[in-house]
Amino acid sequence: MGVNMKQTMEVTILGSGTSTGVPIIACPCEVCASDDPKNKRFRSSILVQDLSSSFRLVIDTSPDFRSQILSNNIKSLDAVLYSHNHADHTNGFDDLRVFYFFNKKKIQCWIAEKYYQEFKNRFSYAFNNTGYQGTTPQVELKTIPEQAFQVGPWKIESFPLPHGNIDSWAFKIGDFVYATDFKNFTEQAFQAWRGKIHTMVASGVRFTEHPSHSSVLETADLFRKLGVKKGYISHLSHEVEHQRDSSRLPKNTYFAYDGLKITV
Ligand SMILES: [Zn+2]
Ligand SMILES: [Zn+2]
Ligand SMILES: [Zn+2]
Repeated sequence: MGVNMKQTMEVTILGSGTSTGVPIIACPCEVCASDDPKNKRFRSSILVQDLSSSFRLVIDTSPDFRSQILSNNIKSLDAVLYSHNHADHTNGFDDLRVFYFFNKKKIQCWIAEKYYQEFKNRFSYAFNNTGYQGTTPQVELKTIPEQAFQVGPWKIESFPLPHGNIDSWAFKIGDFVYATDFKNFTEQAFQAWRGKIHTMVASGVRFTEHPSHSSVLETADLFRKLGVKKGYISHLSHEVEHQRDSSRLPKNTYFAYDGLKITV
C-alpha cells in the first residue's frame, strides 16, 4: 500500500457492457464468439463498498442484476443510485426484493426528480397495494438533491450530463467518480470536478462516434482534461475487443471488465 494514500473503499465492476450486453444475442462477430472472459459484458453497473463499515451501494440495477449479485457473492445491500431511467440501468429493480428476506431492511434508492414519477409508474406494483399476496421490493425511493447528499458513510455529489435528448446523473464519492451514458460533460460538472478525481469509471461504448454517447477516445480525452489519475472505460459494445484494443488507449486509461475490483 502506498504511503500517500488512505484507501477507504472498494469498487467492483458488476457490468461493463452497453445496453445489449456482450455477447449480443444471435451476433456472429468475433468478439461475441470470444472465449476471453474480459469480452463477456453484463449490462453496466458498479458496486461501491466502504471498507470500514461494509456499507454497500450499487449504481443502477441492470437487467443482469441477479447474476451480477450472485457471481460477486454479495449478501447485503444498503442503497442504489440511479443514473437515469433507461431499461439497461433499471430493469433489475425487482430483484432488490430478495435482500429483504434475509436483511429485513429497506434499501434506499435515489433517482433524479425528473425520473421519479416515471420510475414509480414503471414499477407501480412495488409502490401501490395491488392486493396480491406476495413480496415486492422493499425500498425507500428518494430524489437526488442538487446539493451534496449523505448516503451511509459518504457525502455524494452529482451532476446531470446530456445523454441524447435526456440527462444521466454522474456521481462523485470521495475522489472516485462514476459517469455513465453521457455525450459530454457540462461546463458546471467539469469546473466542479476538474483536478479532484483520482479514479474514474466512465462510459465509452465504441471507437466510432455515437449520437448520445461519448466514444472510447472522447472519454479518454475527458479523463485527461479532468486530470483523472486512473481512468476506466465501461459500457462497451461488441466493437471493442479487450486485448486487441487496449493498446489504443493512452497511459493510465484502461477498459473496465466484469469482476474488476478497484481499491480507491
Ligand atoms: Zn446504458
Ligand atoms: Zn457481436
Ligand atoms: Zn442510457
